[in-house]
Amino acid sequence: MKSDTIVLGAGIVGTSVAVNLALSGAKVTLIDRRGPGEETSYGNAGLVERASIYPVAFPHELKAIIDVVLKRNPAANYHWSALPGLARWLYAYWRASSSEGVLSYARTIEKLLAFSLSEHERLAGPAGALHYFREGGWLKVYRSEAGLARERSEFPLARNYGLTPREITVDEALTLEPNLRPIFHGAVLWSDPQSVSSPGGVTKAYADYFRKLGGTIVQADARALAPIPGGWRAVTEDGGVDGANAVVALGPWAPDVLRSLGLRLPFAVKRGYHMHYAPAGGAGLSRPVLDEEGGYVITPMEQGIRLTTGVEFARRDAHKTPVQLDWTEPLARELFPLGPRLEAEPWMGCRPAFPDMLPVIGPAPGRPGLWLAIGHQHLGFTLGPATGRLIAEMMSGATPFTDPAPFSAARLR
Ligand SMILES: Cc1cc2nc3c(=O)[nH]c(=O)nc-3n(C[C@H](O)[C@H](O)[C@H](O)COP(=O)(O)OP(=O)(O)OC[C@H]3O[C@@H](n4cnc5c(N)ncnc54)[C@H](O)[C@@H]3O)c2cc1C
Repeated sequence: MKSDTIVLGAGIVGTSVAVNLALSGAKVTLIDRRGPGEETSYGNAGLVERASIYPVAFPHELKAIIDVVLKRNPAANYHWSALPGLARWLYAYWRASSSEGVLSYARTIEKLLAFSLSEHERLAGPAGALHYFREGGWLKVYRSEAGLARERSEFPLARNYGLTPREITVDEALTLEPNLRPIFHGAVLWSDPQSVSSPGGVTKAYADYFRKLGGTIVQADARALAPIPGGWRAVTEDGGVDGANAVVALGPWAPDVLRSLGLRLPFAVKRGYHMHYAPAGGAGLSRPVLDEEGGYVITPMEQGIRLTTGVEFARRDAHKTPVQLDWTEPLARELFPLGPRLEAEPWMGCRPAFPDMLPVIGPAPGRPGLWLAIGHQHLGFTLGPATGRLIAEMMSGATPFTDPAPFSAARLR
């Protein structure tokens, strides 16, 4: 049986693509070797980061670079063995992180970010997932005046885009989150974002909605993607699944399939870890809190308080090295009364990333009928639904809600 479209990968991106295509009337098969939302889209910090117009950029100040190189910044780690393979990518990332690069990034990403919450709402309502979402934004706490001043310098641009960052005192922060300990110097409340108590749960709810719309989900390992007359075949252990079109939304695993088609894009991963903790003495937290200089986020989740780490540059499949978790856990315990770890092993996931920090959303160059929705880095959970709508509008020939050109794969050639 041939679908109009096969979508490879049922993370938040692929699932959102599948739902949007189904809403446009297409017959869609969504393929994943696991259940929906069980990889990167499971383990993130759960922020719908409406306000992230500033990217997680490569540092440009010498001291900040030295801190990363000498592993003195808990927000970053790397494997020496990965560096030779990453050198060109890191250089391009460094160049894209210049002050002009950051402004250009902000102008571009805002065109998607502006739709991040409304597109989640459009799916979460009919999917019965609204209960996962909470307002209240997120709180960033700063241990030093220098850190707070850096954050303050981002306010003018954010306000230009209609965002509402507000610097608050330690006492005001403690009124919002009474269980934080006043070990910090100041704080900023970003109220525009929202967060969820289970990003994996949200993705599964969107997948159930896709099924209700008549979509098919196939659990299979898509080992390759092959052109066939009139379309594409996802080659699986049981043969294959055919479609007139194919969308690759395999997150960090996209290169495995694209390489065999001769599509080589400058792709890398930024790995990250999480661990859940029981809150000590029943302490509560009502929104994600970023300890900027501590290099971690704590978020209340269904499973407990989730501590997520910053970035680790390593090969995607290299063994886990959760040194950032061991480093940040004591810092987090200073800030919030964390109880015992709730899992034996830290979770690890890979943020799929292009060096200009933007995703690729659109047709694959020179491969008619093949589409890409990959490389969402730190914002995949945020931008999944907006990406899904953009792909569906491009594929159906409707006028896209935003100009897709800046997200084209052609920019990376
Ligand atoms: C620690 C951490 C914190 C983060 N915090 C946030 C946050 O707060 N907000 C935010 O917006 N983003 C956050 N992110 C980023 C976000 O999680 C990712 O950008 C997003 O989940 C990527 O989604 P995806 O659908 O592209 O990939 P995935 O969720 O990884 O989905 C890819 C799917 O492809 C499937 N697959 C792979 N290979 C095959 C194959 N051969 N055959 C079939 N299926 C296959 C996998 O099983 C998987 O389900 C964070 C990431 C990390 C690591």
